Amino acid sequence: MNPIDVSKYRKVPAQKGFWDGSDESLKNKIRILPTRKLILRLELMEKAGLYVHIPFCKRKCTYCNFHFSTRLETKPDLLTALKQEMVQRSPEASPYEIGTLYFGGGTPGMLQAEELSSLMETLRTHYRFAADPEITLEANPDDVNPESLEFWHRLGINRLSIGIQSLNDEVLRWMNRPHNADQSRAALRMIVDSGWHDFTCDLIYGIPGCSDEEWLAQLSWLTGSGVPHLSCYALTVEPHTALHHQIHRKGKMVMDDDLQARQMLLMLGFLQKQGYEAYEISNFCLPGRRSMHNSSYWEGRPYLGFGPSAHSFDGRQKRRWNLAHNPGYIKAIRDNEIYWEEEQLSPRDLYNEYVMLQLRRSEGLDLRSIQNLFPSFYHLAEPILMQYCASGHLVVQDNRFVLTPQGKLLCDRISMECFA
Ligand code: SF4
Repeated sequence: MNPIDVSKYRKVPAQKGFWDGSDESLKNKIRILPTRKLILRLELMEKAGLYVHIPFCKRKCTYCNFHFSTRLETKPDLLTALKQEMVQRSPEASPYEIGTLYFGGGTPGMLQAEELSSLMETLRTHYRFAADPEITLEANPDDVNPESLEFWHRLGINRLSIGIQSLNDEVLRWMNRPHNADQSRAALRMIVDSGWHDFTCDLIYGIPGCSDEEWLAQLSWLTGSGVPHLSCYALTVEPHTALHHQIHRKGKMVMDDDLQARQMLLMLGFLQKQGYEAYEISNFCLPGRRSMHNSSYWEGRPYLGFGPSAHSFDGRQKRRWNLAHNPGYIKAIRDNEIYWEEEQLSPRDLYNEYVMLQLRRSEGLDLRSIQNLFPSFYHLAEPILMQYCASGHLVVQDNRFVLTPQGKLLCDRISMECFA
């Protein structure tokens, strides 16, 4: 799945300039004598992330509302435009070292070797990468084979995100996925056997007709296979999807909230027993295996997004998003026209997103940070958090409010009640 979907969560307090996810600003740390300051600046150079949106897929999955097209004839022109955008916007990244790069979509795993190689070359030529960047590529199980694994590795990709979604063939057919469960199992075995250290699987739960036992069996197979990271999402009905049509027009399927809640709680308990850390409400990993790229979104770090529909954030207050239309994007870049929109986030926006994002993380929400960063909104959050603490949906750990398993079921509601 496309991590850029976190756009609605992207946030960062502006009052103190750069904020690194801790209570103390990195910039404050380097207010030192000039020579030492220069050295520390080099050592502590602020990191940014890059996101590249590849807006093509083999098929349209039933539930998906990301931006993509199955019309591949525009691919050569789109890749040319994408490289132009990368070059044009490189000055925006000049203060930063690139700590993470993420190829999402869409299905970047379906790019030909020379196409991906050319994108990487453009980025390496025009951006300053950190010594050990995390470079992730999204792929579907049917994209994985010994040749692609070897090629991705040679190109410097060091993390794979595999769209498994389900290990039930009937469900996969209903989802219109381009692979079956055996292909998924074979792809994961190949990844493990080829020595990949970092990879993650996307899964969907709360699917009507998929029992609790089956959900646990899927998790059991995946954790038993040594998958170090999982992203698990409840099935949601997004507008303009085939699923939305099936439910609202044809009445073919009925969503089951109780099933979703039950399977979420089963998942939390099971993965905890297997030693996975629930470091974000939908993300689980073995110790030390968090996704750096996604974490940087949640920590409010700057990132540049390239390609149709990709979002960017300056790490302070400005968010921008590209046109979500392949031919329109190509034409605008070719004709030197504007192909994006942008907004300045207000203190209220920043506060709301801060609450929403931090509550989803295992570190929880620190009231003192709200007091420091958003003093005028402190009075809104405090009574709500205390109330949910009393009801057992939050606990206080190290002065931070952390969701309990039951609280995770109400995460959105708790955030919204704290909103300004
Ligand atoms: S592969 Fe399916 S879920 Fe992934 S972006 Fe394409 S349509 Fe969406």
